[in-house]
Amino acid sequence: MVAVDTHGYYGEFGGAFIPEMLYPNIEELKTNYLTITNEPSFEKEFRQLLKDYVGRPSPLYYAQRLSEHYQTNIYLKREDLNHTGAHKINNTIGQILLAQRLGKTRIIAETGAGQHGVATATVCALMGIQCIVYMGAVDIERQAPNVQRMKMLGAEVRPAHSGSKTLKDATNEAIRDWINNPVDTHYIIGSVVGPHPYPDMVARFQSVISEEMRWQLKEKTGREQPDIVIACVGGGSNAAGAFYHYLNEESVRLVAVEAAGLGIDSGESAATSVLGSKGVIHGSRTLLMQTQDGQIVEPYSISAGLDYPGIGPLHAHLIATGRAEAISITDDDALKSAYFLSKIEGIIPALETAHAFAALDVMKYRKEDQIVVCLSGRGDKDLNTYIKHFDRFKD
Ligand SMILES: *Cc1c(COP(=O)(O)O)cnc(C)c1O
Repeated sequence: MVAVDTHGYYGEFGGAFIPEMLYPNIEELKTNYLTITNEPSFEKEFRQLLKDYVGRPSPLYYAQRLSEHYQTNIYLKREDLNHTGAHKINNTIGQILLAQRLGKTRIIAETGAGQHGVATATVCALMGIQCIVYMGAVDIERQAPNVQRMKMLGAEVRPAHSGSKTLKDATNEAIRDWINNPVDTHYIIGSVVGPHPYPDMVARFQSVISEEMRWQLKEKTGREQPDIVIACVGGGSNAAGAFYHYLNEESVRLVAVEAAGLGIDSGESAATSVLGSKGVIHGSRTLLMQTQDGQIVEPYSISAGLDYPGIGPLHAHLIATGRAEAISITDDDALKSAYFLSKIEGIIPALETAHAFAALDVMKYRKEDQIVVCLSGRGDKDLNTYIKHFDRFKD
C-alpha cells in the first residue's frame, strides 16, 4: 500500500523537520487539515470553485495525430485550460479555503518563476485576503511579467536579497515571516514538498486530476485505468495529482519525468532521482542534490518549474520502491518536443510539461496501450524562450 502514515512518512521519506519556533504553526495544520477538508461545507465550496472559477473538469483529450505518430493511444489531461494556465490553482484554492476556516487573515507564499505566486495572489484576490509573496531579487528581474501580474492582483512582492537571491532565499524569508506571525498567517506552499502535512495536503487537493481521469477514461475506453500515466516532476504536485487514484493499482505504470538540464553529467541538471541522495530539505526527508557534506547543489533546468534540487517525499518513495519509473529529459529534447506538440496538435505546452511529452521518445510502450500525459500547463509564459531557440529546431 502506498499511503502516508500519521507522522507524514511514505516509507522512509517525509516527516516534519522544522525549527522549534515553527512547531505551533505546523502542529495547528497537522491537527486540523483532515477534519476541515472532510467537512461537507468545505467539500461543497471547494468543488463549486473548481467548477465555476477554475473551469473544471478539465477535458481528457484523445490526441489523434500524436497517437498516430507514436503508434499508440495518447490522451492529454488538459490542466493547461485551468484558470491561470496550470494545475497550481487546484492547490491554492484548497489552501485558501483551509486558511479561512483556521481564521487566518494574511497569506504568505514564496515563488521562483512566479507561477505559484500568481496562483496564490489570484485566490487571495478572490477571497479579499492580504497576500505577501517572497521572491528572490534575481528572480524578480528575470520574471517581470509574473511580478506585474501579482501586483495587479493586489499582492505585495517582497524581494529576498540574501544568498543567490533566488527561490531558496525567498523560502527562508517566508519561513522567517511565518515564525514572526504564527497566529494570523497561513503559508501556502506550492508543491508536494515541505514538512508534513504539506505533501499529503497538496496531493489531496491535486488528486482531483486523477479522480476526473477515472470517469473520463471510463467514458472513452470503458475502463477507469490507463496503462501508463506520464507527468513531469519539479516538486511533484501535478504528478501526485495524476498518480493519486492509481497509486495502489499496480497494473498502471507511473512515469515521473525530471529535468536533466544540459545533461545528467554536465553539472547543470535537476535530475534529482539520479543525482540525489537521502537528506533533509525544506522540512522533509527525501532525495535531494547535495555535496558530500550536505550542502545543497544549485540545480539547473531551462524550465523554472523543474529547477528544484529535491523531489517530494511521495515521489522519492515511489521511485525508491520501483513503483514509479523516473526518466530525465534534457533542455533540448524538451524544446524539440514543445515545437512538435505545437505543430501536431495545436497545443503550445509549458516548458515543464514539454519534458513529459519528450518521455514518449525514450520509453517503451505497446500499440494497444492507453497512455495519459498530464498536460500540466500552457506555454504562454515560455514564449520568449521558445522564440529564442526556434531557429535551432525548425526543420
Ligand atoms: C510549477 C509547474 C510544474 C512543476 O511543479 P510540480 O509541483 O512538480 O507539478 C510543472 N508544470 C507546470 C506548468 C508548472 O507551472
